[in-house]
Amino acid sequence: MVDRIGRDIRYLRLSVTGACNLRCRYCMPAGGDCGENQRDQLTADQIEEIVAVAIKLGLDKIRITGGEPLLREDILDIVGRVGRLAGLRELCMTTNGILLAEYAGALREAGVNRVNVSLDTLNPGRYREMTGGGTLDQALRGIDAAESAGIVPVRINVVLMGGVNDREIVEFVHLTRDRVIDVRFIELMPIGEGGGRNAAHFISGDIVLDTCPELMPINQSTEDVAQFYQLPDGMGRVGLITPISRPFCGRCNRVRVTADGKLKPCLHGGEEISLVGLSGAVLEETMRAVIFEKPKGHCLGSDRPGENRRNMYQIGG
Ligand code: SAM
Ligand code: SF4
Repeated sequence: MVDRIGRDIRYLRLSVTGACNLRCRYCMPAGGDCGENQRDQLTADQIEEIVAVAIKLGLDKIRITGGEPLLREDILDIVGRVGRLAGLRELCMTTNGILLAEYAGALREAGVNRVNVSLDTLNPGRYREMTGGGTLDQALRGIDAAESAGIVPVRINVVLMGGVNDREIVEFVHLTRDRVIDVRFIELMPIGEGGGRNAAHFISGDIVLDTCPELMPINQSTEDVAQFYQLPDGMGRVGLITPISRPFCGRCNRVRVTADGKLKPCLHGGEEISLVGLSGAVLEETMRAVIFEKPKGHCLGSDRPGENRRNMYQIGG
């Protein structure tokens, strides 16, 4: 549906849990309660109804996220129900990949046609440190399993952190040389309780082009907020997502629903409207009104948080 300033809003990011099996430093505050929100989680029935209404309103691309979505015991039921809804164009998932090797085939069968795996380093020790104890090999096996299941191209999301993983840019870019894989570098945002700490590590997405000048721009999809590039002999693509250095609010086509059922029209705004307990025409009219009034933009800077008061794992990215 078209919002009040003419943007065609087609994309819903839906978090199914606030729980996570990793503790990435930039996403979760130290000592974060990774099991939180489970009590208030939307049920599979509520999720199905919200997505059905979203599709009716014209939001035909759905991304399942979290927390870690694969931690939810009924994840295959949820994905299957959403995947069967008429009018759905794309069903995607964002995951840290730890449990993906186990689930990739079933996700594909249930209708998932795109998977984004968050992977900020290719170094096992650094991975353990950045994720609060994660095992790199499990995430890599998850990526391989998604490819084998036919969910291609897998997208790898790398959050750029100065002094942490910026020396790995070339290695990540070179993954796209021989594999049909998209590597997307994302600017670190000062979100939630980790906001101040994140500001110290911010680096602009331009560093990727400075480090790999051989990357050539390729045709930009009007729908994607990433700008895409390719190595001259590359099979995959390299994307840059630059919410801080080059905000894309004017072509932002997405809204979010949190695991506890709040519709967030802007990631960085404070506005949240509860959908819990709503159904039928009331649910539809509430969603339509909120999406129509989606804020024009955000005023986020690398060290200037917006009005959002949630941590990223409580929104879904
Ligand atoms: N657990 C799943 C995962 O890690 O892919 C899904 C949820 S996670 C919150 C979604 C995305 O948000 C991940 O790609 C993560 O790297 C990104 N993210 C979290 N905090 C961020 C921040 N402060 N700035 C930029 N991206 C962030
Ligand atoms: Fe968990 Fe994803 Fe946040 Fe890492 S980025 S703590 S995997 S929700």
